[in-house]
Amino acid sequence: MKKIIFFFLLFISFSYGETVFLNQSSFYTGDFGIARIKGFEKNARYEIVLKNKYGRWAFPVKEDTAFFSVPLLVKGKYISFYLKKNGKVVFSKRLKVKHKKYRVSKIWVKKRKITKEVLKRIKEENNLLRKTFKVYTEKLFIEKKMHKPLKKLIVTTPFGAKRIINGKKRSYHWGTDFKGKTGDPIFASLSGKVVVARDMFFTGKTVVINHGLGLYTLYAHMSRIDVKEGDFVKAGDIIGRVGSTGRSTAPHLHFGVYINDIKADPMLVLSKRFDNN
Ligand SMILES: [Zn+2]
Repeated sequence: MKKIIFFFLLFISFSYGETVFLNQSSFYTGDFGIARIKGFEKNARYEIVLKNKYGRWAFPVKEDTAFFSVPLLVKGKYISFYLKKNGKVVFSKRLKVKHKKYRVSKIWVKKRKITKEVLKRIKEENNLLRKTFKVYTEKLFIEKKMHKPLKKLIVTTPFGAKRIINGKKRSYHWGTDFKGKTGDPIFASLSGKVVVARDMFFTGKTVVINHGLGLYTLYAHMSRIDVKEGDFVKAGDIIGRVGSTGRSTAPHLHFGVYINDIKADPMLVLSKRFDNN
C-alpha cells in the first residue's frame, strides 16, 4: 500500500509542474502576498496576475519566491490569483478579498506657490518614483520579518485614509504616518540598497530602499538623511531622522511600502513573516 501511495504522489508531482503556496487564502485590500513556487524552472518566463471583473494587476516573478499586493481600490469579494508560465496559466486560486473601512483624514497645510518650475519638479519626481518601484532585482534581504522603522510605532494616520487637504478632496493616504519627534532615528525595515535619498516636493527629505523581488520601502519628511543613493543598508541601520520637510503639518514619519509600484498597507506588511509558507 505504501508503495502505491508513493508512486501515486510521484505521479502527481510529475504531472503538475508548479504548485504555489500562498501565505494566506484571504486578503485585505492593501494586503501583502507571498507566493512560494514549487517546481519553479529557472529558464521559464513567469508572471503573477491578479484578476477579477473589475481589474487586472501583474507582478514579475524571477525566483521561486514572489511578492504581490492586493490593491487598496480593488472591488468585489473575490480575486483570482494566476501563475503564468510562458504565457499559459499553470496554477490558479480564488482568493477572498476583505474590505476594511477607511477613515477620512483632514489636514491643513501651508500653501506653497505652484509655479511652472514647481509643476515640472513634481512631475519629474513622480516619474522617478514610478520608474524606481517597477525595477525588479534579486532578493536583497535575509530577515524573516520587518524591523520597525521607529523605536515605537504609534499610528497617527493609517494607510488608505481618504485625504482632504485644505478643504479639498485629494487622493488616498498611500502610507502609514507614525508619531515622532524631530531627530528621532529612523531605521531601515529590511536590508537593501538605497535607491533614492533626496529632497522632494511632497515627501520632503526622502529615502527609498530596494529590498529585491519588487519590494520597496519609502521614508518621508525627514529632517536629515544619513545615507546616500547606492549605499547598502542592513535592517535596523539608521537611515535618517524624523522631521517635517515637504508637505507635512508636524514632525512624523510617513512610511510607505510598494510592490511593483502597487502600494501596500505598511501595518499589514510589518505583521508578516517572510518564511511562513
Ligand atoms: Zn503620510
